[in-house]
Amino acid sequence: MTTHNRTLLNNGARAARRNKITKLLHTVFGVDRLRDGQRQVIDSVLDGNDTLAIMPTGSGKSLCYQIPARLLEGTTVVVSPLISLMKDQLEKLTALGVRAAQVNSSLNREEEEAALEGIRSTTHEIVFCTPERLSNPDFLAVLKGVKIGLVVVDEAHCISQWGHDFRPAYLEMAAAIDALGKPPVLALTATATDDVVADIAKQLGRSRMEVINTGIYRPNLHYRVQQVTNNDERYQQARELVQASAGVGIVYAATVKAAEEMQQVLQEAGESVTLYHGKLPAAERKANQDMFMSGERRVMVATNAFGMGIDKPDTRFVIHLQLPANLEAYYQESGRAGRDGQDAACTLLYFQDDKRVQQFFLVKHYPSANDLKMIYEIVRKLCEEGKPTGDVIDQAIGDLPTAKLKVCLKLLKDGKLLRQNRKLEYLVGAAEPSAAAFEELAAIYAGKQERDREALEQMVSYAVSGFCRWKVLLDYFNDEVEGFEKCCRCDNCRNPPQVAEIEIRDDEFEREEPATEPGPQFTAGARVRVPKFDEGTVVSMAADQVTIDFPDGSRRTFLADFVEPA
Ligand SMILES: [Zn+2]
Repeated sequence: MTTHNRTLLNNGARAARRNKITKLLHTVFGVDRLRDGQRQVIDSVLDGNDTLAIMPTGSGKSLCYQIPARLLEGTTVVVSPLISLMKDQLEKLTALGVRAAQVNSSLNREEEEAALEGIRSTTHEIVFCTPERLSNPDFLAVLKGVKIGLVVVDEAHCISQWGHDFRPAYLEMAAAIDALGKPPVLALTATATDDVVADIAKQLGRSRMEVINTGIYRPNLHYRVQQVTNNDERYQQARELVQASAGVGIVYAATVKAAEEMQQVLQEAGESVTLYHGKLPAAERKANQDMFMSGERRVMVATNAFGMGIDKPDTRFVIHLQLPANLEAYYQESGRAGRDGQDAACTLLYFQDDKRVQQFFLVKHYPSANDLKMIYEIVRKLCEEGKPTGDVIDQAIGDLPTAKLKVCLKLLKDGKLLRQNRKLEYLVGAAEPSAAAFEELAAIYAGKQERDREALEQMVSYAVSGFCRWKVLLDYFNDEVEGFEKCCRCDNCRNPPQVAEIEIRDDEFEREEPATEPGPQFTAGARVRVPKFDEGTVVSMAADQVTIDFPDGSRRTFLADFVEPA
């Protein structure tokens, strides 16, 4: 992808801009200097480019739009999928004295009216909203009344059907942004494969995005896979891992049932634990999340409903009880550990049967040619009475899930069977579609199922691989780290798997079995030394991990190979 629209600044203007940015960093954001990736992204946005930034979590993505929001003319609109995330950002910005507002379903009538009035009078530099809200014609009309300097699409991978966290609400966003007069777009994501990068650009209708990939490598994350052979062993190993790990951590389960069972096991073991999944009442979910975030509970057991927008930088471990659906999901979930840059452990428990659980999830209902035809007919009827919006169609259709309806409408639009005007109303295309046209559109989506299956295979390869875990991740994301050979910290780097030698032996030779050397053992109370951390006292040892108290009051867990008697 290439650069376009670049505002060519001469050296003087560029230097002046840098000075302005530096001043803002010091006076408003309390930051010394930008990291390289941040500077690149901010420069690209200020140059007027549509930009896609792929930056690992914890690398300061928000500054990448907060600085341009201050420097660009007009309001910056930040589209974010989660209301809790918005609230969090808003509070941080307000505390810094940045004028920002949120518009979403959490506001009461007066609050919403005040926020909208603030937009009309251009009081706000930054306005947060959900993708659903951005596609709402009334809200769009308010935004159209003012100059929009930049639209930021957070968690941009959600727009791609090839991504691991596809959200149909994102599909309507491109039309909404275009309706705002095509302001520049900054799309942000923590992970994206080449397929997803291309698809984000395509779905946003910005074919020439400047792609800035700061890389996904985070050497402080120590990856490891432990094989288990049954469910009891799974819970037992997870419990031992939790007990041997210092600090706070998250245990991810693939199902609500597994999450509940795990929580039970940890609770019975006397652990400080709480629970989060989609089937808990909202109030309980929130209370449990708060307990984990505030440090009142040490361990969170959760399904993948717990995640996006969770920022607990001192998370020291993330354990996956089961195989996630793909490496993107795994990287994103495990990457919630160690955002403070300190060492953290990411462990996957792998049980061969898990693949079947994930395959079961894969068999979702994809839209059929019949679904498409049915929806098309309903829209055509509605068009006889006027120009329906998405909401009107949703009401008329009734029992079809909204998410599926959105996918269908998008496919019908892609196939030019429907059109959408600037008020986001739907219009029927001129030509009468043939039956084959619906079949063709449904076939496009069937391709997604195939890709999902391949992605699952790659997740399995990671679990059974004997290579450096980071190498597998970097290869998957097509990420080249200069000079990288291996991380030297994952299980495979520390204990390279022994490859059995295949030799033809004569019977007269005795076969020599390699001696298995037991790792070092330490007992509680022993004085030990760890490079970089100095001397400490052993608290416990479980499997190959030793937990040690240090004189500065910290408690840390190390692989036994790192520990020597003092
Ligand atoms: Zn490694």
